[in-house]
Amino acid sequence: MPRIFDLHCHSTASDGGLSPTALVQRAHQQRVDVLALTDHDVTDGLAEAAQTAAALGMGFVPGIEISVTWMKQTIHIIGLHIDTTSDELQQGLLKLREFRNWRAEEIGRRLEKKGIAGAYAGASQLAQGAIISRTHFARYLVEQGYARDMRDLFKHFLVKNKPGHVPGEWASLEEAVGWISRAGGQAVIAHPARYQLTATRLRRLIKDFREVGGVGFEVVSGTYSNDEIKYMGRLANQFELLASTGSDFHSPDNVYLELGRLAELPEACIPIWSDDRWATL
Ligand code: AMP
Ligand code: MN
Ligand code: MN
Ligand code: MN
Repeated sequence: MPRIFDLHCHSTASDGGLSPTALVQRAHQQRVDVLALTDHDVTDGLAEAAQTAAALGMGFVPGIEISVTWMKQTIHIIGLHIDTTSDELQQGLLKLREFRNWRAEEIGRRLEKKGIAGAYAGASQLAQGAIISRTHFARYLVEQGYARDMRDLFKHFLVKNKPGHVPGEWASLEEAVGWISRAGGQAVIAHPARYQLTATRLRRLIKDFREVGGVGFEVVSGTYSNDEIKYMGRLANQFELLASTGSDFHSPDNVYLELGRLAELPEACIPIWSDDRWATL
């Protein structure tokens, strides 16, 4: 049996529904061999997750998912094997969270102008002191009956040209990849098939990413089709990027997506875990 690597998921430290401990326990039940916790712009869940994984004898990798603005578009960059004590990384993440806090208030104000009151308070309460993400707003708005589910909600709110949209002003690609690399980690482009980029633009992103020191590409993600996996695998090989795999699990509420339930990497791909950093896992 091949080992199961799930190198992208979220806990209550960002917009996930499970605590770091509950998340790791669930991954263990799902027979995950190596898990990376990759919360948005925050490393608060990593110590607890690492401790739980050690107690269960499961492989664990400290990770992050950094929000980036690249050519006016939001892109997510995963960092794997990051040293969380890196000052540069933590200073950078802090600035992103400051933007997040301002943006959350601004989302609240913009929704209020459209006649939706109390969204900031509602989202804050769901976040329970962790970072506030659009996921918290979306959950609140679904609870209030503005859409039947999260997917439907994100079609009509919080995105470009819809109520509650605030453009991102995140880290640059160079900053995010630099913080990760200088914290000893491997930078990976998260869910590249999900940005709806043209082939030309996607290649441009990969080139820019490589130029600043990026090494990995999420060839398998929880929501990809087989065709997308093949296409992403070909791109990884063509641009000599290491292939990563991660579910992007957020919460058991989404019954379509589970930890560790991932297709195998296409044959020719070189897994990100062939690097020395992974030797002891
Ligand atoms: P933020 O980083 O605060 O802008 O929030 C982005 C998060 O919103 C992503 O990480 C997803 O968890 C969630 N999200 C974005 N689009 C969708 C969607 N169509 N359906 C469900 N969740 C989404
Ligand atoms: Mn998320
Ligand atoms: Mn993402
Ligand atoms: Mn994610």
